[in-house]
Amino acid sequence: MNAPVLLNTALSVRDQFPAIRGWHYLDSAATAQKPQAVIDAIANAYGRDYATVHRGVYERSAAMTQSFEAARAAAAALIGGAESEIVFTRGATEAINLVAASFTNGTRKRVLLSALEHHSNIVPWQLAGYAIDVCPLTDDGSIDLDAAEALASEQHAVVAFAHVSNVLGSILDAKRAAAIAHKVGAKLLLDGCQAAPRLPVDVAALGCDFYVFSAHKIYGPTGIGALWARAELLDSMPPYQGGGAMIDRVTFEQTTFLPAPSRFEAGTPHIVGAIGFHAAIDWTNSIGLDALHAHETALVGEARAALRSIPGVTLFGPEDSAGIVSFALAGVHPHDIGTILDDEGVAIRAGHHCAQPLMALLGVPATARASFAAHSEASDIEALVRGLHKVKRIFG
Ligand code: PMP
Repeated sequence: MNAPVLLNTALSVRDQFPAIRGWHYLDSAATAQKPQAVIDAIANAYGRDYATVHRGVYERSAAMTQSFEAARAAAAALIGGAESEIVFTRGATEAINLVAASFTNGTRKRVLLSALEHHSNIVPWQLAGYAIDVCPLTDDGSIDLDAAEALASEQHAVVAFAHVSNVLGSILDAKRAAAIAHKVGAKLLLDGCQAAPRLPVDVAALGCDFYVFSAHKIYGPTGIGALWARAELLDSMPPYQGGGAMIDRVTFEQTTFLPAPSRFEAGTPHIVGAIGFHAAIDWTNSIGLDALHAHETALVGEARAALRSIPGVTLFGPEDSAGIVSFALAGVHPHDIGTILDDEGVAIRAGHHCAQPLMALLGVPATARASFAAHSEASDIEALVRGLHKVKRIFG
């Protein structure tokens, strides 16, 4: 399967990514490469249009403020939320920290997480003083929602699950997870880091309460991401950080705050990051998340079949994983796989993928992971397979 050709440009999707020329980049789940449209948007924002937002009385600043707020509208539209429900954060990590630190659900001090969560959906809850209950996985590496139903209780403030696992690629049945959380009066937070670049997302249809995602995973810049939260929840939450841009009036005795989302955005925001984020969302929409999902699903199918034909390879995760294939090769440490593949011009991730509890459950110190994006094509999988045969020759 070759990367699709965009209808509105002469360049193939792959050719729109200048940084991957001559390279088999299979690490998009760590961070996505950037299409030229995003690089241009960032260059223009700094090189032509730059000014601060929200404060300036001059025209350039007003225009920049409009661009910044248009990015918020685009982020909201991407996941089917309202503009006023999007808080810009440094990324998904900060978004989860914000919820863990600011949201309270009565006196409940437990959260229900799953065994496959990224550290950024574990540690913030610990820091905020929550006790964690862990939902196990099914044999194929999906979150076991029958077990979640049995475990969820009125002690849980939040049920927080990855919408798509960054290690296994498994896709959560988010609607069912929402029903399970709501039945016991808990809120559902979805970690959408790996889902937002790979699946059409509609928070209203999913029925979740919080949704977090990072721009850099969806072809945008690092340093910016978003928290979506239902309006009534955001309105009920106290500020997370204090400073400029989030206040209504300050005296030394007392400060009053702006309404959400401004109340959660202290300090000068990542203005150009938001503009790059917007360009990335527009670019993604120009391909279409349905088409992207179909493209990556086909590649996962090809990759799993090709890897399975190599003796000694173990595949993790379900057959219908979203854009991500984790594997092991008997007798070879994933870091050695990664190093030899690097010599062959193939970039994969080898490590614990910030999911040490999941590694413990799988009984491995690390896995090798190939992950796909819009620019991925069959030649990437062929190079991966060639490289793995070389690994096997070297390790005999
Ligand atoms: N959750 C998942 C599932 C992820 O894959 C990642 C990034 N690896 C994160 C959270 C954290 O995202 P960020 O580092 O962009 O904040």
